[in-house]
Amino acid sequence: MKKNMGWKELMHGDAVQAGTAKEFKTGDWRSEKPVFHPEKCINCLFCWVNCPDCAVLLDENKKVVGFDYNLCKGCGICAHECPVKEPKAITMEAERR
Ligand code: SF4
Ligand code: SF4
Repeated sequence: MKKNMGWKELMHGDAVQAGTAKEFKTGDWRSEKPVFHPEKCINCLFCWVNCPDCAVLLDENKKVVGFDYNLCKGCGICAHECPVKEPKAITMEAERR
């Protein structure tokens, strides 16, 4: 591929079947991860409602218990939306692999 190509010169990408995202572990490319602090949680479920990846885990009583780190992309929306005063019930911390 030549350097500094314009977008009209780029090749067409592959088309993939819709609905396959659930088969991928999107947490692989996370740089930060949410950490749950249950003692601060008021169980408002704002984090669960707002998570774009359905990565907030609930127990059988609909209480937040943590995150599915295979799906969580580390976007931080859950921590941002958590209404608890600082320090919140969810904090974002650097991912260490
Ligand atoms: S960091 Fe983003 S993807 Fe991960 S649980 Fe929070 S809202 Fe969901
Ligand atoms: S947004 Fe915060 S307080 Fe509300 S359920 Fe989630 S962790 Fe708990």
